[in-house]
Formats: sequence, structure tokens, C-alpha cells
Amino acid sequence: MEKQHSFWEREEWLKPPDLVVIGGGIVGASTALFYKEIYPDHDVIIVDKGITPEGASTRNAGFSCIGSISEHLADLKISGEETVFKRIGRRWNGLQLLRKTIGDDVMDYQNTGGYEIFKEEKTYKRCAEKIPWFNQKLKDKFGLKDVYSMDVYEGYPAIFNRVEGAINSGKLMRTLHVRLAKAGIRIWWNSKVLRVETGAVHFENGFQINPKKTVIAVNGFLQRLENLPVHPARGFVFVTKPISDLKWIGTFHYDEGYVYFRNVNDRLLLGGGRNVAKEEEATDLFGANQKIRDYLIGFADKTLKLPEKWEIDIEWSGIMGMTENKEPIHQKVKPGVWVAAGLSGMGIAIGMQVAKELVLKMEE
Ligand SMILES: Cc1cc2nc3c(=O)[nH]c(=O)nc-3n(C[C@H](O)[C@H](O)[C@H](O)COP(=O)(O)OP(=O)(O)OC[C@H]3O[C@@H](n4cnc5c(N)ncnc54)[C@H](O)[C@@H]3O)c2cc1C
Repeated sequence: MEKQHSFWEREEWLKPPDLVVIGGGIVGASTALFYKEIYPDHDVIIVDKGITPEGASTRNAGFSCIGSISEHLADLKISGEETVFKRIGRRWNGLQLLRKTIGDDVMDYQNTGGYEIFKEEKTYKRCAEKIPWFNQKLKDKFGLKDVYSMDVYEGYPAIFNRVEGAINSGKLMRTLHVRLAKAGIRIWWNSKVLRVETGAVHFENGFQINPKKTVIAVNGFLQRLENLPVHPARGFVFVTKPISDLKWIGTFHYDEGYVYFRNVNDRLLLGGGRNVAKEEEATDLFGANQKIRDYLIGFADKTLKLPEKWEIDIEWSGIMGMTENKEPIHQKVKPGVWVAAGLSGMGIAIGMQVAKELVLKMEE
């Protein structure tokens, strides 16, 4: 006889839940949490293909940031002023929501401030000239005073952003998952979904569950489940072994946000460089691209001038979800099925905000 589910399993464990969320990253986990706050009696299950959240939320760099000026200027060319400032607002509000929901201490939040450093005088001048304009806009729109200022760091011209900071992404996600457990939300790990229909979620192992509502929060893996314009982009990061007298303390950006680095105590975390091999990195498969690895190592040696004999301790990749204009997609895609994806490189900042907005849309 084939293995059957027992009476108890059928009646208690596998009966149609009110909500299944596919994806246990920051967006899926927050969606489940905020939904459960509104409907405490509803049965909510999160399912994830990994034994940890296996996308970007536990594999990122831990910057809590609203963006550097060169990044905003590049975005203005693509999306225009209204969209760019709406995005900055969402990042700022999202960070406040994150801090309120999780708590600064438990995720080691540090308001370090952030520096954008420049190697080319021309780019620096172009960005520095815009400081008064950005500061005025941020004051008028969000009440944030004097966010950007001119500075110098380790001999490089720099723009300081006083509202940037850093968190420990591992602690953030573990705390979030403890909250899920406390709220009575079940999580099924190692449960890869192959197909979603209205009222049915089909797993790789042949199992099927029949929720009343489904949220697909798989970000960079979306195209495997839904044909929507969210494209995968792989990001690469490494953390060095401890470096005595590390000069780079705080959070830093370079080159429109493509390169980012920060200290993690006495180690340096350095990541990005996707622009060096953009097409090759348009993948949802984990792995390291030697071209990017070499570029970042060269950056650490020549630009950051790390002391000789510094070593990489650990390196990894994570998968982001990108949309054409960097705006996330959160919408109903068929009766009873919603999608939240396309968080780009700013999911720590906007992840909870997007989840909150989605839960409100689910009520409509
Ligand atoms: C290297 C790197 C550095 C970054 N640095 C920062 C930063 O410093 N600051 C910042 O704000 N943002 C950063 N980001 C972006 C941020 O991490 C993401 O935007 C955010 O984590 C996205 O969250 P998410 O929940 O939408 O997706 P994810 O965290 O990717 O979660 C999606 C989940 O869905 C699961 N899943 C996928 N397919 C299936 C399936 N078929 N069945 C079941 N489960 C499935 C995955 O296992 C995964 O756990 C970085 C990203 C990367 C990759």
C-alpha cells in the first residue's frame, strides 16, 4: 500500500489553510505576520524550497539605506522624479517599520551613517552639486533635514548620508521567524512549489494543498512560477578574516551603488560588482563569477588599500529580483492569488513596507 496521510493528518495538519505564502524571505515572512495580525484565527502556512530562506534575505549585505546620490541620479534618468522620490519615501518608511517591528537591539541596528566615495573628480562634482537639491526635497517631502553633506574618507572625496545604517541580516530573519512561530504561523521548509492555481499549490514531491488564498513571494525565482516581468540578478559578497586596524568603519557605496562595503566588527564585507558582468549574472542559480570576484579583490587591494595578506574568510551569492524601473510588483494575479516580488537591492529597506501594502490590497 502506498503511504497514505492519516486521519489525524488529514483533519488537523493538511486541511485547507486560509493562507499559504510561498517564500520565507523578508517579504513572505512579513506578509504572513501582518496578515495574521489582522486575522488571528486564520490558519497560515509559509512554505520555502530551502532549509533556510534561500534567496536574498539571509544572503544580503545588511545595509539599511535610502540610497546614494549617484544611484538616485542614475535612477532619475530611468524613472523620473516622482517615481524616484516615491521610492526613497518607501525605503525610509520601510526602514522605520522594520525597526519598529523587529527592534534595533535584536538585529544589531547601527546608525553608522553612510559614505559614498568617489575616485573621479568629475563624478564627485556632478553629485556634490546636487546635494542642496536632494536635501531640500527630502526635507519638504519627508521632514528629513540635511541628509547629505560633503566629506572626505581615507583621502577620497565623499558624500556622507547621515540616515544610513547597518544591521545583522541573520538576526533580523531569525527574529522574524521566531515571531512567526509565536503567532502560530507554520513553516514548511524544503518544500519546493512547482505550480500555483487558484485554490491549489502543487509541490515538487507531488503533494498538493488547497488554500483559500495564496501569496507568491519568491522574488528572483518568480519566473519559474508566474510569467511576470521580474528578472533574476545574482549578487556576490565576501567577508574577510579579521583585519587589525581596519580603516573602513561604517557603511560605504561606490559607483551608483554597484559596489558596497561595510565593516562587520573587525572584518570587511565587500559585495556587488554585478555591472562588470550584468548579462552573466541574470540567473537564479547560485555561484561565483570569477570576473566579479577578481574585480572586487582588485577594488579591495587598490582602492580600499587593505593591508597586505588580507584574506577572504567566506564568500557567497544571493538572488535578487529586478524590474525594469526598480519598482516592486505587488498585485493580484488570479482569483485568490497575489504576488509580491522585484525588491531589487533594497529589500531590507522596502521589504516590510511592500508586505504591509500587499496585505492591505488583499483586503480590497
Ligand atoms: C548579495 C546581496 C546583497 C544585498 N544587500 C542588500 C542590502 O544591503 N540592503 C538591502 O536593503 N537589500 C539588499 N539586498 C536585497 C534584499 O536582500 C532583497 O531585496 C530581499 O531580501 C528580498 O526579499 P524577498 O523576501 O522578496 O526574497 P527572498 O529573500 O529571495 O525570498 C524568497 C524565498 O522564496 C523561496 N522560494 C523561491 N522559489 C520557491 C519555490 N518554487 N517554492 C518554495 N519556495 C521558493 C526562496 O527559497 C526564498 O527563501 C541584497 C541582495 C543580495 C543578493
